[in-house]
Formats: sequence, structure tokens, C-alpha cells
Amino acid sequence: MTTHREPLSSVLETVGETPLVRVHASPDEAPVYAKLESFNPGASIKDRIGKYMLERMLEDGTLPEGGTVIEPTAGNTGIGIAVAAGQLDVEAVFVVPERFSLEKQQLMRALGATVVNTPTEDGMGGAIDRAHELAEEVDDAVVPQQFSNPLNTEAHYETTGPEIYDALDGEVGAIVAGCGTAGTLMGIARYALEQDSETYVAAVEPAGSLYSTVLGEDAEEDPYKTEGIGTHDPTTNELFDPELVDEVIQIPDENAHAEVQRLAGEEGHLVASSAAAASLAARDVAERIRDGEIDAPHDSVATIFPDSSERYLSKGIYGDFESWEG
Ligand code: PMP
Repeated sequence: MTTHREPLSSVLETVGETPLVRVHASPDEAPVYAKLESFNPGASIKDRIGKYMLERMLEDGTLPEGGTVIEPTAGNTGIGIAVAAGQLDVEAVFVVPERFSLEKQQLMRALGATVVNTPTEDGMGGAIDRAHELAEEVDDAVVPQQFSNPLNTEAHYETTGPEIYDALDGEVGAIVAGCGTAGTLMGIARYALEQDSETYVAAVEPAGSLYSTVLGEDAEEDPYKTEGIGTHDPTTNELFDPELVDEVIQIPDENAHAEVQRLAGEEGHLVASSAAAASLAARDVAERIRDGEIDAPHDSVATIFPDSSERYLSKGIYGDFESWEG
């Protein structure tokens, strides 16, 4: 049922309050609910941190009015920051290694941002260094740096977490979410553990990523195609707090790719590979709760579908696994 909604005054008011939808919905399946973050105006979960970080930095004066944010980012965070910057009278500059998706760079420019490319061979490290150099040269410039900024986590503690608990009337047994910067999972987990310290928390990463080593597990580093989650160097993921996490679940690319197809074909979800990995991990946790292998305060598992597959069509997300570029 849709309730009547008043007209809103700007696109920024449409960030958050995304739908929570039951997935794997046949009645005999353990209950999994996914938050559909492609409903945000920039079509990903990163709109939440774009809005939250900029508003907070403007409030406390870290970012002067009419100032500039400079972020090294190749993806959804740039779009999320650009949406907010455009409405808050802030200049946005993104430093992007050349090889990254042209579609995302086009969207950032369309939203009024400036995109500065750095050589592919310098990697994300080169983009980070260039962002800091530019911040020295430009007046009133700030580098939010989502990988280490506590406002990233706080955005989810203040919005995503409470929205999940509200929708499920507080009956949440486990939180399962992919970790890129880990801001999403850490913010929701902090909120969840305050509601009930027995809530089970699982991080999701592609097989080949190294978050699990932070929990003391052996893991082989390998390239992976699943986009937006995982890390090759956990020392750079400063927001990830192993104290809040019970388990890291690794999902092989092949499984995530197959789940992308299943979610579209069977359940009508046009989501990308990080959502598919989260879907598989969440179902696994829900089944283990149902079978008594995990102790959790409730049966329901909440997870996040961070963005839409439309952003990855040119990479062959709906083609066969071998030709999928990730
Ligand atoms: N999925 C996608 C598609 C993303 O772009 C990101 C952000 N890198 C994530 C998942 C993970 O979110 P977080 O950075 O909050 O861990």
C-alpha cells in the first residue's frame, strides 16, 4: 500500500527511506529482507554518505560555504557526493584513474562536478595523492576521504540502521552486508548491537579479498570481479572494526554472477554483483539461524542491495560469466 506523500522541495530529500523487501520469498525459505538502495536519486547507497558528510561538514565549518570537496573515487561515492554538492552550493572535484567506468564519470560531470583523471598505472594510490595535492592548491578545499572518515559510518548509524529496525519492528536477528569501505556495515552494526547485543553480524566479501584475515582467518589474495566490495589491503580500510563482526563470508565471483541472473529472472531485482553476494550470504545466515547453528535473537536477516545492474550493463553483467568484466 502506498501512503500519500507531500511534494518535496529538493532531490536531496529523496535520499534514504528506501524500501525493505523480502527476498528468497518462497514460504519455506528462511526470512531475508533487502534494502533497495538503487531507489536513491543517484541510484546507490552512497547518496546517503554524500548528503550526510557534506551537511555535517558544512554545519561544523570543516567545509566553508561555497567551498570545494575533492574525493578520489571511481564510483558510486562520486555520484552521491555530486548529487549533494550540486544542491548545497559546494564545488565537487573527483580524481579518477583513467581506466574506470566512463558511464560513472559522465554522470559525475552531468551533475556539475569536475573530473580529473590520473594515469591508470598509478592506481587508486595515485588518485589519492593527486586529490591531496589539489586540496593544497584550491582555496577552501576538503578531502572527505570515505575510507577513513567516521562520518561515513555515522551516516548509516543515523539512517540505514534505524530504517531497518523501524521496518521490521525491531525483530532483526542478523545484519549481513558487503564491505568496501565498511561504512555501511559498521554503521548498521553499531546501531543493531545497541538494540540487542546478541544480534549476529556478518561481513561479505568476494573470494580473493582479505577482510577475513582481519578476523584471523587464512585467505588467499586473488583478483575478483565483484564490484564495490572487498579489499586487497585491509590496513587501508580504517573503518572496519573486527570487534563488531562475528564472521566474514566469502562469495566466489561465479556464485555472485549466477545470483545476479537469478535475482533478476525470478525476483525482479535489477541489482549488481555486490548485492548478489550479499543475497547469498544473507540466505546462508538465515538458514543457519533456522537450523540452530547460529544463536540470534530473531529469525529475520537484513541485508543491503547497494546499487543497480544498469550501471554495469556495458561490462556484460547479464552476459556469460567468462565475458563478464566485473
Ligand atoms: N556495493 C557497491 C556497488 C559499492 O559501490 C559499495 C561502495 N564501495 C559497496 C557495495 C560497499 O559499501 P561500503 O563502502 O559502505 O562498505
